[in-house]
Amino acid sequence: RMKDNRPCLPGMEDDEYIGFASLPEQVHRKAMRKGFDFTLMVVGETGLGKSTLINSLFLMDLYKDRKVDNIEERIHKTVEMEKKELEIEERGVKLKLTIVDTPGFNDSINAEDSWQPVLDYVDGQFDAYYKAESGLNRKNIQDTRVHCCLYFISPYGHGLKQADVMVMRKLHHKVNLIPLIAKSDMLTRQECRRLKDRILEEIQRHRIDVYQFPECDSDEDEEFKQQDQELKSCLPFAVVGSNTVVEAGGKKVRGRMYPWGIVEVENPLHSDFTKLRRMLISTHMQDLKDMTCEVHYENYRAERLSGAQVTSHADRGKLKRDSAAPMEADLVTDRLLREKEEEIRRMAEVVAKMQAQLQSQNSPRVYGSVAQV
Ligand code: GDP
Repeated sequence: RMKDNRPCLPGMEDDEYIGFASLPEQVHRKAMRKGFDFTLMVVGETGLGKSTLINSLFLMDLYKDRKVDNIEERIHKTVEMEKKELEIEERGVKLKLTIVDTPGFNDSINAEDSWQPVLDYVDGQFDAYYKAESGLNRKNIQDTRVHCCLYFISPYGHGLKQADVMVMRKLHHKVNLIPLIAKSDMLTRQECRRLKDRILEEIQRHRIDVYQFPECDSDEDEEFKQQDQELKSCLPFAVVGSNTVVEAGGKKVRGRMYPWGIVEVENPLHSDFTKLRRMLISTHMQDLKDMTCEVHYENYRAERLSGAQVTSHADRGKLKRDSAAPMEADLVTDRLLREKEEEIRRMAEVVAKMQAQLQSQNSPRVYGSVAQV
């Protein structure tokens, strides 16, 4: 009910509102009904604490039934992807979380190809989405695209290994990469800072595009801004995970008990675990999804479309040759062959000329040196 195109002003009677002010509520209700999807992938060597961290993050023993391979088995192991799904509900908000683990990543002796299944998995989900989008029923597409990849870096090395650089570079334009220093309780505070700086420097040097946290809105409150700043300054997150509950200061907490004391998983002084969890679950989940959709998936789609164009051009040519105009196609082939031959002849001429030039340049010097001898 628009009246003379006048904007709605405060103090207007109820029946004078157009009604779009309730849009956020509608969106909210719809989103609540539908629930949220989020897919998290963990990548890194076996034994860096990936499953322990995931358990600590989502308080579930997802990996209860997994058996640990012995060393001989590992040598022949291929990477197999493991997918776990869980539904979490919090104050009526449903979150369907999918966790994709890459159990044998990088630990078989023939490691060169160990990243391939990881890439295939990410591409596979893009492909499924692409097909679903161009299919008939676009309403209920299940989004299984990987929204975030936690990349585990060993605390024992002096930064990124060659394999890390390679795998991260293979992944960085396909997925939001978040680097983590695994098992950071193995490092002193100083060692940890040094390793972080080194990793950041290497990420830059090797031009690895890790996930960039968005700039904070200038009209956010100070506390939020400060949290955002702290979050950015602690990259890459140094994390600790644990599957056991221990008692610290009379409280039961997730932690690791050592002869000299307890490392508490959720203590911000002990690790960046809480920052990572907050970021993943409450502050940046939507941004990770947006980035996946607007940047990584768009890249994939653009590539697919340009690829499709090439194929369709090729197909059209083929169709002509095979059916309607064989004569014409033969003529085209002949012409192309002639052009190629002409090009080869020209190149041979250039090469001959260059050789002659080189010889004439070299000759006096050769003679000169002979004369000196
Ligand atoms: P995954 O193969 O990467 O999934 O590694 P797991 O989660 O199975 O952990 C391998 C071993 O490392 C287990 O013995 C864990 O108890 C231990 N572990 C896991 N997280 C940590 C951590 O943060 N610090 C330390 N010191 N050990 C950890």
